[in-house]
Amino acid sequence: MLSSDKWTRKILFNLPDNSQIETVLMGYNTRRTACISTQAGCGLGCTFCATGQGGLQRNITSGEIVEQVLFFDRILHRKKDKLTNLVFMGMGEPFANYKQVMKAVDTLTSPLGFGFGARRITISTVGIVPMIEKFTAEKRQVNLAVSLHAATDELRETMLPINKKYPIELLIKSCYEYVKRTKRRLSFEWALIDDVNDTPEQARELVKLIKGMLCHLNFIPLNPTRDYDGHESRQKRIRAFRQILDKAGIPNTLRIRRGIDINAGCGQLMQEASHIIP
Ligand code: SF4
Repeated sequence: MLSSDKWTRKILFNLPDNSQIETVLMGYNTRRTACISTQAGCGLGCTFCATGQGGLQRNITSGEIVEQVLFFDRILHRKKDKLTNLVFMGMGEPFANYKQVMKAVDTLTSPLGFGFGARRITISTVGIVPMIEKFTAEKRQVNLAVSLHAATDELRETMLPINKKYPIELLIKSCYEYVKRTKRRLSFEWALIDDVNDTPEQARELVKLIKGMLCHLNFIPLNPTRDYDGHESRQKRIRAFRQILDKAGIPNTLRIRRGIDINAGCGQLMQEASHIIP
């Protein structure tokens, strides 16, 4: 399935037990980024995410993770092109399938395996704190991104149920520890939802949480999903929100949404692509 601007391609893989996963290839200038799934479905139930709305089918194996990368690599190779970046931001929570994900990372980065640069890989988590601590202790060269989306427990709990188990204070503490011990910059992801988490109050709370941390905020206007009523933030509200961060000196970027017309954007993956790979 190819987006109308031809920059985004989504593939549905049919696994041997009939579980299914979607994987996305995004092109932008010279970047070729594969967005990899780490579980068939997801059990964490983030309200605005189509994968979460469908529940978990199963953890996938390291081989099934690696195969998603090889599939797109083969396609690009035929066009004398190659993958430049891998993001583990597709279906599933990577840290809920930690062992298989790290096994796949080892294969993908090994000179005897796929030989991909670890610094060009990013793993994204919604905040399973013990796994962030484990990841920190392993001091891997892979980048870490945390999907924050809200700066107060009261709001975050309504969006990400995992926050009840690992509240913001614990999560942010583990993030500071990650930066301190690895000396690596951490990314935070924030889907901007109109009149939900794009208020000046949330921006100010966010500044309090992360001011001084070596980090970068990535904002993306919410992508639509079938079972969530929220809408993307309006430009005026996005500008006002970002101004508060700018004033506090917190680096941030507004990401362009891609692949929305084929439901290939963040939080939209569910198992419906037309191009099935058996
Ligand atoms: S946002 Fe990530 S962790 Fe949350 S339900 Fe979707 S896939 Fe799972």
